[in-house]
Formats: sequence, structure tokens, C-alpha cells
Amino acid sequence: MRKKRPLGQNFLNDPSIAAEIIRQANIPPEGRVVEIGPGKGILTRELLEHAGSVLALEIDPQLFRGLNREFGKNSKFELVQADAMNYDYGAAGNRYQVVSNLPYYAAMAIIKRLIHYRKHIVDMTLMLQKEVVDRLVAEPGTRAYGSLSVFTQFNCRVERLLEVKKGSFSPPPKVDSSVIKLTPLKETPVIVKNLKTFHHVVNTAFFHKRKMLRNNLKSLNQPYQIDIKKIEDAGIQLDRRGETLTLEEFATLANLIEANHD
Ligand code: SAM
Repeated sequence: MRKKRPLGQNFLNDPSIAAEIIRQANIPPEGRVVEIGPGKGILTRELLEHAGSVLALEIDPQLFRGLNREFGKNSKFELVQADAMNYDYGAAGNRYQVVSNLPYYAAMAIIKRLIHYRKHIVDMTLMLQKEVVDRLVAEPGTRAYGSLSVFTQFNCRVERLLEVKKGSFSPPPKVDSSVIKLTPLKETPVIVKNLKTFHHVVNTAFFHKRKMLRNNLKSLNQPYQIDIKKIEDAGIQLDRRGETLTLEEFATLANLIEANHD
């Protein structure tokens, strides 16, 4: 029986892909990099060639020991045994880049946390499941478009860089992978009056993907109230589905609902 890998331990086995990921990460010689889940060090090796300093976070004690043996003497290298899902990225440096072949079970939780700490982050070059990348880059009106697309694109510029087949990993995962670059935006692309309302409205609009906005918005909790006329006057017809709304339209919708709630 094959050993279970609860920590998403699918190791990249192709050094040319590792080199390409680091090339696309575009790291200046003095740059600081945080690597999440270095594993057996295929990306770490490349990072130490290119970056000024590397802080690596690995949760697995056995891999942690192996990494220390291999890279511990390199003065550019710092290794912390930590859970990347609740690490304090504010303490990792003032401004740094993130590079990771993410553990897939935790990919979205880690990305959300990194976005939370985006003021510290220049950009993130991340490998994750292809289907999740499809959702992160999705445009309105497409099947993959959902609240994850809206929140990510609200905070970051999203670029798809590379496709990687499952055979490039040992053991191979069930799905293919893609590499993306997320660049935190200095200013959000649309003005949102109240972030909590925005998040709540977006989540509610996608609650039943096939339902019209009118029906999904019925489940907005008190004290939110919907003024149908105001919303439709702003050009958002409530017989549309949430998946057709652009970021701007979500902002308009949330701002109108917020205004009503003030
Ligand atoms: N970077 C290596 C590579 O490309 O081959 C390993 C990538 S593997 C997909 C994910 C790595 O993340 C593993 O080394 C795993 O032990 C580590 N990991 C899993 N969960 C983690 C967590 N919550 N925090 C930090 N590291 C984690």
C-alpha cells in the first residue's frame, strides 16, 4: 500500500521546471524570498543561487532536518519549522517575494493569509492545482468565475505563467498544476465603502450559482436591505446571475447595499 501523504507532499522532480519557475519569479540579486514548503529543496537550491536571502517554512520535521543538513551552512538561508497557514508573515521582512510549490490541501488558506499580509509582499510566484488557478484567473460569465476570482482580483494582479503536468512530480498528484504570479495591488481596482459588506454581498451572490441575483440576495442577513430600484437604476438588473457581474458591478452593488444599511 502506498504511504498516505496528508501534507500535500508531491515533490517536483524536474530541475528544468524549477529553473523556469525561478526565472519567472524574477528575483533581483539582493532580493529577499520566503519559500513555503521547501520539501527536498528543488526550488530552494535555485533560490539560493539567485536571491540575497531565503526564509523557508517547512512543517514536516523530517524534511526540516534534511533541509538543515543540506543548506544549513549557507549564510543566505534561514529555515523555520512552521505551519504556513498561521505563520506571522509580517515578521518575515519588510518587503519580500514569495515562491512556493504549495501543499495543495492548504493552498487557498495560505493564499488568503498571504493576501492579508500583502503590504509586505512584492509578488508571489505559486504553483497550485490547475483547476484552482482556473478559478483565480477566471473572467465574468465563465464557469470558473466565483467569489475566489473576485476576491483575488480585487487584491492582486493575476498572471498565469506555466502549465505543469502531474508526471513532473513524485509521487504524481491526481491533477495537473499551473504556476501563477499574484502581485498585490497598491490600490484596489474599485472603491468599496465597506469591505465586510463587499465580501458578504459577493459570497451571497454566488451562493447558488445558477440562481438569479434577486433570489440569492434574499438571503442577505439583516441589517442589509435591498433597494431594487436603486440597484437596477445603477445598471445591475437583478435577473442576472452573480457569475455575470464584473468587479466594478460587485463594488457598485455592495456600495448601494451598504448605503442602505448606514
Ligand atoms: N517545494 C518542494 C517541491 O517543489 O518539490 C515541495 C512541495 S510539496 C507540494 C509541499 C511542501 O509543503 C512539502 O514539503 C510539505 O511538507 C510542506 N507543507 C505541507 N503543509 C505545510 C504547512 N501547513 N506549512 C508549511 N509547509 C507545509
